Amino acid sequence: MYVVTIDTETCGGCGECVSTCPGQIFELVESKAQVKDDSEECLGCQSCVIVCSSQCITLEEY
Ligand code: SF4
Ligand code: SF4
Repeated sequence: MYVVTIDTETCGGCGECVSTCPGQIFELVESKAQVKDDSEECLGCQSCVIVCSSQCITLEEY
């Protein structure tokens, strides 16, 4: 499984991860991305890591 971590200090709230993720894992709350509480499992596609210009998304595989 994959664990997605967002650095909210550097997140600029652009929403690119929200619109890119095929698993619809992200949402914007007060202009910061966060992983939804009821999110589906991350597919590990790396799209969010690539699309985030602030490089604040980290993907770890367990
Ligand atoms: S790796 Fe893919 S499925 Fe997982 S959170 Fe990022 S965009 Fe979504
Ligand atoms: S793509 Fe990066 S900067 Fe943009 S909302 Fe998502 S985590 Fe924040």
